[in-house]
Amino acid sequence: MYFDETHEAFRASVKKFVDKEINPHMDEWEETTVPLHDLFKKMGALGFLGIRYDPKYGGQGLDYWYETVLLEEIGHVHGMGVPTAIAVQTNMATPAIEAFGSEYLKETYLRPAIAGDMVSAIAVTEPDAGSDVFAIKTRAVKKNGHYVLNGSKTYITNGTQADFLTLLARTTDGDGYHSFGLFVVPTDLDGFHVNKKLDKVGLRSSDTAELFFDDVRVPAENLIGDEHEGFIYQMRQFQHERFAVLPGSVTAVQDMISMTVDYLRQRVVFGKPLITKQVLRHRLAGWITRNEALKQLTYHIVRMKTEGRDATREVSMGKLLAGQLISEVATGCLQMFGGMGFMNETLISRYFRDTRIMSIGGGADEVMCEIISRIEGF
Ligand SMILES: Cc1cc2nc3c(=O)[nH]c(=O)nc-3n(C[C@H](O)[C@H](O)[C@H](O)COP(=O)(O)OP(=O)(O)OC[C@H]3O[C@@H](n4cnc5c(N)ncnc54)[C@H](O)[C@@H]3O)c2cc1C
Repeated sequence: MYFDETHEAFRASVKKFVDKEINPHMDEWEETTVPLHDLFKKMGALGFLGIRYDPKYGGQGLDYWYETVLLEEIGHVHGMGVPTAIAVQTNMATPAIEAFGSEYLKETYLRPAIAGDMVSAIAVTEPDAGSDVFAIKTRAVKKNGHYVLNGSKTYITNGTQADFLTLLARTTDGDGYHSFGLFVVPTDLDGFHVNKKLDKVGLRSSDTAELFFDDVRVPAENLIGDEHEGFIYQMRQFQHERFAVLPGSVTAVQDMISMTVDYLRQRVVFGKPLITKQVLRHRLAGWITRNEALKQLTYHIVRMKTEGRDATREVSMGKLLAGQLISEVATGCLQMFGGMGFMNETLISRYFRDTRIMSIGGGADEVMCEIISRIEGF
């Protein structure tokens, strides 16, 4: 209904890439971490990292429907670590540079990010500030043509491999939202340290790091837009981030259900294949129904974005629904696999570990509920 032949041709090329360049390596990358410079170089050459971005900077200049196709197909990756790393590059660390950055920042950072020559990360969360972004303590103080950065960030995806960070820091002591700046921070500056790669329950193919900034001198031209408006820019950037998880979640739910149905067809219990049990079939039908609702909400959001309408309410609802559904389906499908589902050799066990983050990262379920209730006026 929404996709024509050109979209489908694009879908086929992303699918081919996932089948050939990503899925065969997933087991290894779960042990070692995905090599992002290598992967992004290949994706950049195919134009996958700048779907919506201006051709002037190497982007494809396409619309949100093409972005949706990319995100849907990336959702077929066998595990969510690599899709997360890719979405950081396309939807989490670069949208604010594109929307509010100077020509210099677009040429120096957006262009190589689109080409896959630079790996990016988004650095907002701190040890004492996650859901409450306003509470961040990292400071950027202007001095002699530089901003001197001090503080720390944690849980930063792509953090050990990134060439630059899109980083939120406090710039003034005011207590309003207009007291923060958003910066592009190259990771080769003196005073920047990757403290450690964090050991996670899931997303094991993706690296997540704790970062320290000790008198890091960030050139003034690396400020994105106005030095007091970073919080606002980041809130807008979060909309791209939260949307990015929706299309791939729909795909992952479909894939989990499909691999579970295959198993239920062949697993004989009490003399009959498990798929004959009505209680299991009805549970699957319920998930498929809710996933269809998530898919249609996702397409509704794409229509709203295409028309230039504010979709904060709908994106928050989609993120909430996706986080809840994907975890429920992963847990429920593992249950249907029985003991086999608890074995690491069975892919569903990876989804079980990986999907749990969906209700936490990028704004937890409770934060989505806060946004929705505020917009609803209660
Ligand atoms: C694997 C992984 C990757 C990540 N990648 C990045 C990244 O690349 N960049 C980045 O900046 N951050 C990243 N994060 C951080 C992530 O966005 C935060 O973990 C998330 O926002 C939650 O913050 P917190 O962990 O500090 O939890 P807290 O804010 O301490 O919240 C703890 C719990 O309290 C709940 N809670 C909070 N407020 C309320 C409320 N008002 N009412 C009721 N309950 C509430 C939360 O929902 C949560 O369940 C990542 C995290 C993980 C685990």
